[in-house]
Amino acid sequence: MVTVNPHFAKKLQKFGAKTSSECFNCGTCSAVCPLVEEQALFPRKMIRYVQLGLEDKIKHSIEPWLCYYCGECQQYCPRQANPGELMMSLRRYLTSVYDWTGLSRKLYTSKAWEIISILVLFFATLGVIYLLHGPIVTEHTELETFAPRHIVDPAGWLFGGVLSIILLINIYRMYRLIMTSGEQVTIPLSLYVKEFFTLVWHFFTQRRFGDCKNRSRWLKHWLLMSGYAVAFILVNALSKWFLTNEFLSVFHPVRLLGYYATIAMLYVTTEAIIGRLRKAEPIHQYSHSTDWMFLILLWLTVFTGLLVHVFKYLDLPLPTYYTFALHLAFTVPLLALEVPFTKWAHLAYRPFALYFKRLKESALEAQRAKTQATQVKMSA
Ligand code: SF4
Ligand code: SF4
Repeated sequence: MVTVNPHFAKKLQKFGAKTSSECFNCGTCSAVCPLVEEQALFPRKMIRYVQLGLEDKIKHSIEPWLCYYCGECQQYCPRQANPGELMMSLRRYLTSVYDWTGLSRKLYTSKAWEIISILVLFFATLGVIYLLHGPIVTEHTELETFAPRHIVDPAGWLFGGVLSIILLINIYRMYRLIMTSGEQVTIPLSLYVKEFFTLVWHFFTQRRFGDCKNRSRWLKHWLLMSGYAVAFILVNALSKWFLTNEFLSVFHPVRLLGYYATIAMLYVTTEAIIGRLRKAEPIHQYSHSTDWMFLILLWLTVFTGLLVHVFKYLDLPLPTYYTFALHLAFTVPLLALEVPFTKWAHLAYRPFALYFKRLKESALEAQRAKTQATQVKMSA
């Protein structure tokens, strides 16, 4: 039985889709989309679902994750219905559906929740630093003495562990929804292992994005993702070299990796902020408040991280310690709110969606081949 929510289009407006009613279903967007497949016709199908109020079908859909928001469909839409933005809104909506805590929906639909959550985490982090920081040495800069690694490292792992558990539960909920849609098939355990490379490949390369005409967007997306991944490894696994009183030689791999992560993230976020202010490209014409939250928090986190490095290099003890405290106070809300609940969850959901899609396709292919072989055997 298909249930209909006649108010779904209105509900989706809070997630950013303001113009879906303009669509008259000409199909141009699906014709020009470089990522459309025979089994996954979007964005027109998704717009139709929204217009008809088929909320249940949307909850089980994989298509929103197959769009990388290149913006090509927006340029050709004769009704300015912004199909690319609608796909983006559906990803926000689905992120809130997968999230078992309910916080994602609050962050996406209420600016008050968004601002208060950031402020609470910002000041709570400063409070914890105030209570737990080590001795303040002012003769020269000793960052590791101010922020002892025996406190920073376990706190980082605990924080990362909690966020990962929340995200993994959400991914499991996504799996349940996607796998129970369309043709049903049993997936053998061996297939999960065999196709695991699909997940790793799409996570690290974002390869499908490269099929879009504007390859510079793929490159920027990849720079941002790789910069973030490098920064994550540096902070969590290599803090022995990263959070230290010493200065590493300029060619030390850890220092070079730190420069790479900083330049990649600062360049892409600055360019995205300017793009969203200018609104010249179709993909920048509409910005949800969470897009700004993501860009501003990420920019401030990276910039304060860079300042810590500069102040430490200039041997300015107090500016180094205060900026480091600010850097952490921006990092905590960025990770706590973005990784499991809003924008950065996409980094996990998209490759997982492609993995689940591949699992289902492979299992169906195997099932059909088996049925065919049985029929041939019976007729022989
Ligand atoms: S969104 Fe625009 S291009 Fe796509 S079907 Fe609707 S009117 Fe046509
Ligand atoms: S934004 Fe790009 S990938 Fe997404 S539906 Fe439009 S054309 Fe396809």
